[in-house]
Parts: sequence; structure tokens; C-alpha cells
Amino acid sequence: MSAQAATVLLEHHLKALKLPTVLREYKTLASLCAQERSDYPTYLLRLAERELIDREQRASERRIKAARFPVLKTLETFDFSAQPSINESLVRELMAGEYMDRRENVLLIGNSGTGKSHLATALGMAACAQGRRVRFFTVMGLVTHLLERREERALERTLKQLERHDLIILDELGYVPFSKAGAELLFEVISRAYERTSLVVTTNLPFEAWTEVLGSERLTGALLDRLTHRVHIVEANGESYRLKDSKRRLGRARPPKAPKD
Ligand code: ADP
Ligand code: MG
Repeated sequence: MSAQAATVLLEHHLKALKLPTVLREYKTLASLCAQERSDYPTYLLRLAERELIDREQRASERRIKAARFPVLKTLETFDFSAQPSINESLVRELMAGEYMDRRENVLLIGNSGTGKSHLATALGMAACAQGRRVRFFTVMGLVTHLLERREERALERTLKQLERHDLIILDELGYVPFSKAGAELLFEVISRAYERTSLVVTTNLPFEAWTEVLGSERLTGALLDRLTHRVHIVEANGESYRLKDSKRRLGRARPPKAPKD
């Protein structure tokens, strides 16, 4: 067989075997290994390693896409010194993801703008990188979605799909009250997740206010019971980062006027 025919055939096989990184790098790595006088197994090992690393990277990107984060945020861009009320060591421990193996939940409670959604997303992205299936919703978005699915008589299917996740993020349980049906659907998601799927919930509501938003004391009790049975609570009680940030910018743009005398 001519060298050219062998190349064509090899590249065809690599495509058929779905080894895009090997396909892209086998030549460069071959000359590198020839220079270094590496043996064949070493060459093969290095190719296999690169394929594996790239494959994990691609899978993580797919999971991040499937999670539908509204914006991508990681812990690297989170400034803990700007929000000293947050328990940094707890957040860092949660990033390792073991709480999901134990089916535990995370509740991020605090005022608006304190980085709750940022941290929830960072936890979700870390979970994606660990090979877990993640889905992000705003609470209102989820409830609306489920009400629509019910109209389409596809509620059960959607709930089953949700059950297949390792982590569901429910962002912004806020002051807007639910309809009775909406509250019941949220309860359904939380009870099905119980001891099966971890939940990360962000909220600006103290527990006392949940009944008002969910509309029923009995339902709120049952929901909190499941949600908080095994829960890590991250509290953020500082000033809004956005507010602080814009104050800082304004301060820079308009230096304070010298007092008139
Ligand atoms: P919350 O969900 O608590 O209302 P967000 O997470 O949406 O707050 O934060 C508002 C904005 O400020 C986002 O763009 C977020 O990335 C940023 N932010 C908040 N806290 C911090 C922080 N400590 N370090 C860096 N960025 C932050
Ligand atoms: Mg938020």
C-alpha cells in the first residue's frame, strides 16, 4: 500500500472510531516522539491521553450547554473579600461536589445582588465538569414551564426527565406569590428530588416568608421539610455587589465637588 493510501485509510478509520484528537495530532506527535526516540507504546499512550482529555472537555461543554445557565460564572471571578458574610470554606467544599453523592441540598439565602446566582451557577458549572447532569431554572421559569407542559399533557414526561439530573438549580425563589397550581408543581419537583437529585436553591426570602409566597402553610411545611432535611446553608448578608460596583464607578467618574465656602 502506498503511504498516501495508508494515510487516507488511517484517517478514515480514526473518523469512524470517533477519535478526532488522535486524527488531529497523530502526525505532529509522531515527529515529536521520533525526535525524542520514544517507543511505540509511549507514542500511543500520549495520543490516548490527549484524546481522553479532549473528550472530557467536550462532554463537560455539552453538559454546560444542556444545563442552560443564563450566564456562565465561575468561582475564579467571585471575590469573597467583597462579600465577607459568605462562608468561603463551605462554598469551596461544596465546589468539590460530594454533597451530590449524598443527595444533599444547598440553600443560598441573602439580599439581592450578593452573588447568590453567581455562586449557584459556579456550583453548577463545577458539577458539569465532574460529569454530572445539571439543569438551571429560575423558579418562575420552572413553574411556567411545568404549567405549559401540563397543558400539553406532557407533565409526567417532563418530571421524569428532571429526575434524571444529578443537580437542579432553582434560582430566585422570590417575593412573587405563586398560583395554587404553580406552588403544587414546585412542591412536586422538590419532593421528587428528595434523596434522588440535589437541589441548589437561591432566595432572598427568610423562612418565615415562604408561606406567604407558596400560599399554603401545609405545603410550605412539607416543602421545607424535604428541602432542608439535608441542607447546607450559605448566607449572604452584605451590600449588593452591583450597587457597590456602580457606586465605585460613579465615584470614579464624578469626583466629589470641593465644598463651597
Ligand atoms: P444575587 O443572585 O444574589 O441577586 P448575583 O449573583 O446575580 O446576585 O450578582 C449580581 C452581579 O454581581 C453578577 O454579575 C455577579 O457576577 C456579580 N457579583 C456579585 N457578588 C460578587 C462577588 N463577590 N464577586 C464578583 N462578582 C460578584
Ligand atoms: Mg439572583
